[in-house]
Amino acid sequence: MTAPHPIQYVKGVGPRLAEKLASRGIRTAQDALYFFPKGYEDRRRVVPVRELSAGMTVPVRGKILSVQGTGRGFRGPRTLEVVIADGTGRVAAKWFRFHPSLVERFRVGETVTLCGTVRIFRFFPEMHHPEILAGEESADPVHFGRIVPVYPEVEGIPSRVLRKIQWEVVTRHADREAECFPSWVLEQAGVPPLHESLPAIHFPRDDADAARFREFSSPQQRRLVFGELFALQWALAGRRAGTERESAVPLPWDRDIVGEIKRRLPFELTGAQRRVVNEILKDMGKPHPMHRLLQGDVGSGKTIVAWIAAMVAWRHGVQVAVMAPTEILAEQHYRRFSSLSAGLSARVDLLSAALPPKEREASRKRIRNGETDIAIGTHALIQESVEFRNLALGVIDEQHRFGVLQRAALRRKAATAPHLLVMTATPIPRTLAIALYGDLDVSVIDEMPGGRVPIRTRIVREGERRKVFEEMRRELDRGGRAYVVLPLVEESERVALRDATRTAERIREAFPDVGVGLLHGRMKAEEKESSMRRFKEGALRILVSTTVVEVGIDVPEATMIVIEHAERFGLSQLHPPRGGVGRGSRASSCFLMVGDAQGEEAAARLAIMERTTDGFRLAEEDLRIRGPGDFAGVRQSGIPDLVFADLVRDAGVLRVAKEVAEELHRRDPDLSAPEHDGIRRFIERRGSVATGAD
Ligand code: ADP
Ligand code: MG
Repeated sequence: MTAPHPIQYVKGVGPRLAEKLASRGIRTAQDALYFFPKGYEDRRRVVPVRELSAGMTVPVRGKILSVQGTGRGFRGPRTLEVVIADGTGRVAAKWFRFHPSLVERFRVGETVTLCGTVRIFRFFPEMHHPEILAGEESADPVHFGRIVPVYPEVEGIPSRVLRKIQWEVVTRHADREAECFPSWVLEQAGVPPLHESLPAIHFPRDDADAARFREFSSPQQRRLVFGELFALQWALAGRRAGTERESAVPLPWDRDIVGEIKRRLPFELTGAQRRVVNEILKDMGKPHPMHRLLQGDVGSGKTIVAWIAAMVAWRHGVQVAVMAPTEILAEQHYRRFSSLSAGLSARVDLLSAALPPKEREASRKRIRNGETDIAIGTHALIQESVEFRNLALGVIDEQHRFGVLQRAALRRKAATAPHLLVMTATPIPRTLAIALYGDLDVSVIDEMPGGRVPIRTRIVREGERRKVFEEMRRELDRGGRAYVVLPLVEESERVALRDATRTAERIREAFPDVGVGLLHGRMKAEEKESSMRRFKEGALRILVSTTVVEVGIDVPEATMIVIEHAERFGLSQLHPPRGGVGRGSRASSCFLMVGDAQGEEAAARLAIMERTTDGFRLAEEDLRIRGPGDFAGVRQSGIPDLVFADLVRDAGVLRVAKEVAEELHRRDPDLSAPEHDGIRRFIERRGSVATGAD
């Protein structure tokens, strides 16, 4: 790395522009090198006017036929219109707000080059606010005769001046950016070295594919993506290696306990459940802590898997903690674990905020002195006041509700690192799982228990609501129950609440004979729990909710779910609540309500919900359409914002980055070899710059 070169001393900048650049965080030539174009214009050749069509962004060149101000304003004409002709046709250039000096730049009869986006107005092509290249500018390789970069706007600096500054920066400073990766890495990633990439990203070579540059998928741009993803994977490789070095109490299974478990299973495990149980028990048998993510749709049967793991641990006389996101889920786990383990000496305890203080204290005491074998609870389990005697297995259910911090807190409850099993029903696309949870091994339950009747999903227009109510009536008459879910728009909880209250009213009117409950974000946890409970027990038979119905609560009688304003949800957000029905033996249905005004587009996006109940397919689709920001867990996971990488576009680069990071970690975990100096510095500095420059 060379000494920073203040931007002010770059040719053409000076103190005044330096200040403006500083407002965008550009203080040195190096900063400017990493200030990338937001787009590119293909100006390799002048296009004859006859060939213009709407939407093209190209240069045209011709003689000026007329220069005309129209529409009198307070200080002169409002619109400037310049018409040029090139022998194949005419094109008009228009400026709607302009400085009077602009007029001076045009003389009838002179030749001018204009670069802009073509629109067609009354059958004639025109360009609004095109870039003007006059005189020698029209031969300047910075602005013309090439694929030209378009930079994000910097206030107070015209785009052409900015482009010229960047040209200076690139020609004088780009080659000082030393590549930090050795050549085998670049080869494996299929990307050119940094000092070759940087100039090309600003000023692509003539033979470059302009479309790929616009998509940020040229090899040169992928070099940056690679650097960013590598840094992420390096951190994960380090964490993973840390786990592998750590020791844990090995909890191998034996014939006796497996026989005991088998005798108690209330049903036969699905093939997928058997597979994940094997994966988990294999991990638990090792003297290093398990770190495993168990993914499986709502209803796929994760609880029994957790119970099996807990029983194997219990056999070794150690303690197990099972953490659920809500009281009601914790209670459900408690009941299931208790009944599955009935008759064994395993002591299952519930630690709940809902317990009276005395009982809570008693249960804390049992956990502390080791009387409790399996402690089930909410986040109450990781509070300061809870101590375990010998915790060796932690199960965290519905991970997306828990941040990394909670994971760490649970670990601190044990003297030696406990084995950890994290369960989630939120389908996470593979690329995202690698990026987010690269330090976890992943098991997937991709099969539903048999005997389930598939859920029928239908998209319904607001105008057909009556039909949905009729259907609901039929379901209720048959003894079914229904959820009605409204999206919670974060900015306007009040609106959502009003919506929910109104919807609940309407439903109460339509079904005066059944209990209708309301569940919304403003209610206290206990109130929410109580609504849920009354629904589960049957006192309420319709539940209107602004929060997505608690994933994981088993209400076999629920056979219908109506999701209001379905178009506002992502597909993978619609998927888990849908899993709230279809748990019994009766056919269930899901209605996605779409406003009448919502166009075909919304319906088309949702149509896939009618065709598949495969959460992973929906998640992939979502990631493609809406990007990673929507996925539960992405925001709290501690993953830094990706500047260059796009997890859909760059799935391939991500895989290579992971391979390379792991290989490097095996070879040189501290990056102490001299040839890894650059990488080490890059990783160390990455807190501030995300580039991969040494
Ligand atoms: P998840 O937590 O994955 O959403 P649960 O563990 O709550 O799902 O299981 C949903 C329901 O399916 C429960 O009633 C459970 O008893 C039942 N179940 C789980 N596995 C099987 C199986 N292999 N065969 C039949 N029923 C099963
Ligand atoms: Mg569950």
